[in-house]
Amino acid sequence: MPISSKLPNVGTTIFTVMSKLASDCGAINLSQGFPGFDCDPALLDLVTQYMNAGHNQYAPMSGVPILRERIVGKTKFIHGIDLDSENEVTVVSGATEALYAAVTAVVKLGDEVILFDPAYDSYAPAVELNGGIPVYVPLEMPDFSVNWERVKSAITAKTRLIMVNTPHNPSGYVWTKEDLASLADLIQDKDILVISDEVYEHITFDGRKHLSLLTHSLLRSRTFVCCSFGKTFHVTGWKIGYCLAPPQLTAEFRKVHQFLTFSTATPMQYALAEYLSEPSLYFELPDFYQKKRDLFCEGLKETPFEFTPAQGSFFQMVSYGHLSDESDYDLAVRLTKEIGVASIPISVFFSDKKDHKILRFCFAKNDLDLASALDKLIYFKF
Ligand code: PMP
Ligand code: GLN
Repeated sequence: MPISSKLPNVGTTIFTVMSKLASDCGAINLSQGFPGFDCDPALLDLVTQYMNAGHNQYAPMSGVPILRERIVGKTKFIHGIDLDSENEVTVVSGATEALYAAVTAVVKLGDEVILFDPAYDSYAPAVELNGGIPVYVPLEMPDFSVNWERVKSAITAKTRLIMVNTPHNPSGYVWTKEDLASLADLIQDKDILVISDEVYEHITFDGRKHLSLLTHSLLRSRTFVCCSFGKTFHVTGWKIGYCLAPPQLTAEFRKVHQFLTFSTATPMQYALAEYLSEPSLYFELPDFYQKKRDLFCEGLKETPFEFTPAQGSFFQMVSYGHLSDESDYDLAVRLTKEIGVASIPISVFFSDKKDHKILRFCFAKNDLDLASALDKLIYFKF
């Protein structure tokens, strides 16, 4: 029986495509964003301990209380903000779920949703599946900062939501205090909500601080903040994160979450709750990743690529438009097949799929793999 697709223009995500190609070619996989190393064995021991202790049935729908309390503690510690663990914190099965549930909770048929272009690939499908209309505001090249005049002109009476991502994937751009103030200014007298994807909250470089939208009082009252333990504790395969939002928004969020996944893996929640009692673990993350970014960028200097070191996230973009007209997709495939280094062509993140001759490399990998990928890139001939 022929079915009419609800997402006719969507194929398999580039992350699946490139990771499969990398695996088929035995290439070093700097494409999909996941750590190429394991998490702390202590965290694995904790999960095992909680599994053996019988914590293997459904967790409470909103998350186990002790984990929600620890998330409140973490937020207080980092941002100095008090949250209510009962009514403002929901544990979810990855930030992807949080983003989808938040969009579904607030977007109705015909609502306009402002997305910055390029955007992470799950945003537009989430909006469209809910009958919303994505309205794209291009980020400013080359640093991918926000042009607030453009945002202002994109806002209409139908604008319901703005989706923010800081630090930004794929560019690494980190929002400034001025960005937060500009957003607040634009929405303060309007009925507009915000989703802030902050999965790279602990990965910022050169002394830059991640500014959560929670730190701005007006934004805090309008925003779903989506975070991921996968990124923070090197366990992307556990698919666990959380959403912070004011009580009224959280209530709507949970109405969706309870029918999307209902709850999230129980032993992981207990293990992370115990693990979170040690703040040094996430405080060490910027240094840990800055060493990798620096190692990768040092090596990149020997290649013909042009780049500016990323401000945050675990991605480094490089451009090659001065060297070749080859499309970014073709080049990413060729590099994987010919020299064994996989990357992501960033055209996939743009609404019009425009090719800016930019590739994205993930440097959340072992130093040896980074060094060996660089060796290959240095000798690559366009
Ligand atoms: N948002 C962004 C910007 C991401 O890069 C990712 C995944 N890397 C996600 C959301 C999804 O996070 P999770 O794996 O926790 O679902
Ligand atoms: N967020 C990861 C990236 O940008 C990929 C996550 C996924 O494969 N869905 O590479």
